Amino acid sequence: MPLIKLKGAHVPHRKNTAQMAAVRMPAPKSVTIPVVMHIGAPAVPAVKVGDHVDIGDVIATAGGFVSAPVHASVSGTVKKIDTILVSSGNNVNAITIESDGEMKVSEAVKPPKLETYEDFINAVKDSGLVGLGGAGFPTAVKLKIDDLSRIKAVVINGAECEPYITSDTRTMLDQADLMKEGFALLEKFLKVKNIIIGIEKNKPECIAKMNELAAADPCLTVKPLPSVYPQGGEKVLIYHTTGAVVPEGKLPLDAGAVVLNCTTLACLARYCKTGMPLVEKCVTVDGSAIKEPKNVIVPIGTSIQDLIDFAGGFKEEPGKILYGGPMMGIAVPDTNCPILKNTNAIIALNEKDAQPKKQTACIRCGNCVSHCPLHLNPVAISKAYRDGDCEELKKLKVNLCMECGCCSFVCPTGQPLVQRNKLSKAMLRNYKPQEGKK
Ligand code: SF4
Ligand code: SF4
Repeated sequence: MPLIKLKGAHVPHRKNTAQMAAVRMPAPKSVTIPVVMHIGAPAVPAVKVGDHVDIGDVIATAGGFVSAPVHASVSGTVKKIDTILVSSGNNVNAITIESDGEMKVSEAVKPPKLETYEDFINAVKDSGLVGLGGAGFPTAVKLKIDDLSRIKAVVINGAECEPYITSDTRTMLDQADLMKEGFALLEKFLKVKNIIIGIEKNKPECIAKMNELAAADPCLTVKPLPSVYPQGGEKVLIYHTTGAVVPEGKLPLDAGAVVLNCTTLACLARYCKTGMPLVEKCVTVDGSAIKEPKNVIVPIGTSIQDLIDFAGGFKEEPGKILYGGPMMGIAVPDTNCPILKNTNAIIALNEKDAQPKKQTACIRCGNCVSHCPLHLNPVAISKAYRDGDCEELKKLKVNLCMECGCCSFVCPTGQPLVQRNKLSKAMLRNYKPQEGKK
């Protein structure tokens, strides 16, 4: 399944906040931190109501191999451990800490021992890091590789192809020193000699900054990429930076690649240097309903409402609020929902911008097929979904869909293609072949 260069779509960039260095918001009155902010087993609460915690204290331990610990993002008192509704529609356990306003850092926060590869993996585990590009896969699991010689290249994702979002842009510009330390860690502990950072060409300052680092690091290459969405999709990025194709149903490592988001790398370097785990995020707050768009450094668990208030509030009634960008973002059910580890943007669109395209009958134009970066056939998937034909959905490989939203974006008749793909994948998960058609 070769990927063809420049498949995808030319989406409007709307990088309104790219020139805005992140500002730190004041300590919120309280934070509510879910124990599930990653793919895998929920973390297990390690505190009880009434406990005092400082920033960086472990409040929930990893609940399994594929899991990640959770840390306090403010100092204060644990007020509640209760379930909350999150954007996936699930109720998850969450720990509410009432801030004492001191923002005191825990004495437990100190640089980890880092002599061997095992030390490095333990440090990544303890940092609570998960993929910050959106997927939330625990970073320690990704980097725990039995045979390091399988890694032909580490690909750093600096594409940031979603409209509006500029938090990775600010990482590359404002935390280049941490990224430099991150590259050195990868070279030392993963024994890689080939690190490629892929950056869309609409970020010339980031390309220039990373080229400065590459000039002093023979292992680092900067790869400017066409600004074509979804350039930051894992398989797309691997292909466009290394030329390798991830085999169907396989992992990037099967194509010799390990992919890390640039902010994940900077956070990893910060933990190894200071021992400060993942307790805050740079979040882009933007969209036509936001009064003062900006990049904000925000404690994890802060309510979306607090963050929006810090951005001046709404200038218009929002029609839709999203975790993430307009292409792949997930609707926020309630502005009391918290900022999560992998939240990189809160985008609030006014009523007009939130309107879906008017839906009319499919005109068989083929746009959705010709723009899918993974060579899927979204219009055929839609038909198979409507027919309840799981065997056909399997043949059409809907499971490979990365839900990038390109097909929906280019469809002139407003078909909800990506939504049908998601529903198709859910239908396949419940499919028992002996039952035939569902
Ligand atoms: S079918 Fe999936 S991968 Fe292809 S364009 Fe649509 S959402 Fe993206
Ligand atoms: S892009 Fe839309 S109208 Fe064109 S074939 Fe695909 S579903 Fe039909």
